[in-house]
Amino acid sequence: MEKVVIIGSGPAGWTAAIYAARAELKPLVFEGAITEENRLAGTLPLGQLALTTEVENFPGFPAGNLEAYLDDAIDPQRRAMMPAHSKHGVSGPELMELMRQQAVNFGTRIVTDDVVDVNFECHPFKVTASSGETTQTLSVIVATGARANYLGLPSEEKFKNRGVSACAVCDGALPRFRNKPLVVVGGGDSAVEEATYLTKFASRVYLVHRRDKLRASRIMAKRAMENPKIEILWNTVLEEVLGDDQHGVTGVRLRHKVDDTTLELEVAGVFLAIGHTPNTDFLKGKLELTDKGYIRWTTPFRTYTSVEGVFAAGDVADDYYRQAVTAAGSGCMAALDAERWLAAKEYE
Ligand code: NAP
Repeated sequence: MEKVVIIGSGPAGWTAAIYAARAELKPLVFEGAITEENRLAGTLPLGQLALTTEVENFPGFPAGNLEAYLDDAIDPQRRAMMPAHSKHGVSGPELMELMRQQAVNFGTRIVTDDVVDVNFECHPFKVTASSGETTQTLSVIVATGARANYLGLPSEEKFKNRGVSACAVCDGALPRFRNKPLVVVGGGDSAVEEATYLTKFASRVYLVHRRDKLRASRIMAKRAMENPKIEILWNTVLEEVLGDDQHGVTGVRLRHKVDDTTLELEVAGVFLAIGHTPNTDFLKGKLELTDKGYIRWTTPFRTYTSVEGVFAAGDVADDYYRQAVTAAGSGCMAALDAERWLAAKEYE
């Protein structure tokens, strides 16, 4: 019997684990499975931050060389598998490994598997992993985050992994994209971040945005607009990904929304950065969700959900802030809420 099971392994999950472990609740974290399906969906362990580059806005990590600290802090076996340190401050994968290690140091136990089903109608709750194993637990913190969206074009689906991607950091350095023109679709922070990142490898990056104004934060938008390798195509949508079986993606057909003209561009890759979908498929009918599928927090400034004893933290319950630091903050809140709930019920 567990006191608290945490589902998810982004900043919300690990922060919840650090707090729960220090409260001697001996948390069990389901960090997700390492599978090709999860890789394609962007739902591998360590969450979305593990798919980004430099994290410049997580407090406590100004630019500087963290190499020696990372060597010292992180389990040597996992450290050996991490990419080289960028020297610009902390990277997403580094930040996640540090959080995971911190949770482990305080006694968190980890299962590297997906949770595929939950039963919140009984108490203790039941949590079933893809291995088929069921765990009983007094409380649950859901911190499964969100995953990248695709447009839903048949041609996009056809060329997934053969030139179409939703993760520049995972795939951008592949030989097929080197010194070739590429397209990024979207106008938010992710799109400008991905476009900027891809300029390291690409000959040119076309940022295709459906409006005449970027949604991205000013500092990131300015960086993209000043980058000579990035060309922003305003009021433009991706109509079709072009390609063939032999080469994968060879181009795109775009449509200008104002004058309704089409334009074909030769590109070797298409990167989607058009927002996210919460990872709540396994919770449908089990917890109250919003219209967009996010978990509904039922009480202001609390991480309570529609089921007493089940708490939610991070992007899975937040379609508004969606920052690493807000996810971490709500992970802390969820652990404190769970701890207090268990104490009030005299389960401890
Ligand atoms: P987002 O802010 O929701 O932006 C999504 C973009 O995709 C928007 O520009 C949107 O266009 C466009 N879009 C959505 N659906 C589309 C469709 N069907 N066809 C064409 N375009 C479509 O998502 P995000 O960029 O992933 O960012 C999510 C959150 O993470 C934000 O809070 C962001 O600040 C944060 N973030 C921060 C950083 C950082 O600070 N380093 C990096 C990445 C993300 P419209 O503008 O017309 O709606």
